[in-house]
Amino acid sequence: MQVRRCRASRGVSLVLVLSGLFVACSSPSAIPAPAPSVAVEDPGPDLTGPLSWQKLEHIEEWLQTPESQRSPDFRVELELQLHEGRVTFAQRDAERANVPDDSLRVRLEAARDGFRSLLARNALMPGQSARAQIGLRAADSLLASLVKPASAVKPALVIIDRSRWGAAPPAPTRLTPLKGAWSRITIHHSAEESSDGKGGSLEDSAHTLRLIQKFHMEDPGHRWGDIGYHFLIDSGGRIFEGRELRWQGAHAGGKDGMYNAQNVGVCLLGDFRVRPPTPAAMKSLELLIADLREKHKIAASRVYAHTEFTGSVCPGPFLIDWVKKHR
Ligand SMILES: [Zn+2]
Repeated sequence: MQVRRCRASRGVSLVLVLSGLFVACSSPSAIPAPAPSVAVEDPGPDLTGPLSWQKLEHIEEWLQTPESQRSPDFRVELELQLHEGRVTFAQRDAERANVPDDSLRVRLEAARDGFRSLLARNALMPGQSARAQIGLRAADSLLASLVKPASAVKPALVIIDRSRWGAAPPAPTRLTPLKGAWSRITIHHSAEESSDGKGGSLEDSAHTLRLIQKFHMEDPGHRWGDIGYHFLIDSGGRIFEGRELRWQGAHAGGKDGMYNAQNVGVCLLGDFRVRPPTPAAMKSLELLIADLREKHKIAASRVYAHTEFTGSVCPGPFLIDWVKKHR
């Protein structure tokens, strides 16, 4: 192993290890002359020892220092070594299978991004460029072998907004602003047959939503300021935005609507007293409830079926079972 002292800048002496893995620092002509003798000798990162977490930490720390900004060539070399070290450790841990995939992924993504950043800077010598490309391929290939994180396999939640289903404007004077945070969710069915189970089009469902909204806003027994539910799901699994979440809903009843307080209303389009919702609708329900619970920090025990407030048959036995199992 060949060891050479390399002047980086401002009188800082740094030791580089020139082995098969590590490449020399910049050529002497590219290195600024040392500062006068007032400069304090700083040993810089110790690169003479074997690869270790300590060494990588030391490099990481040094890369945060102003000194590293004044030594661009040496900085490039240390960045390379840091990312190579991360990949080496990740490979070792992956073989031993003693580190969770999530931890490996964090390290490998850091290394991958580091290699990419180095390559994008066009500041590498040919040997360094080759090392960065090899490192990048190794990081990518190891990342591809890891189990995908839950966030990567989780389908995206798509909410169709009010304008897409032709919602009428709300009547704010007949609405109650949300007071406090959302703390519970209640599941309903719409109990009408016009849209469910037919694999209807977006326009079919939009039409049904407009009818429900019209009924909620204009029926003399209701006269609400908007559609009562915050979200509606059709048989195709489409999720629609109903009443905006800045307003309390109108769906769970109770004296003076007391059960609506801080209660998100979710309605599946269809009548599910004698048959279950479609798998697509159930999948969207799962997604939506998980998202709402996460966003608003709502416990599983605070997800209800409408019947639990009023004793009605809503939302039918299948969804009532789902709610119970969800807890
Ligand atoms: Zn209901």
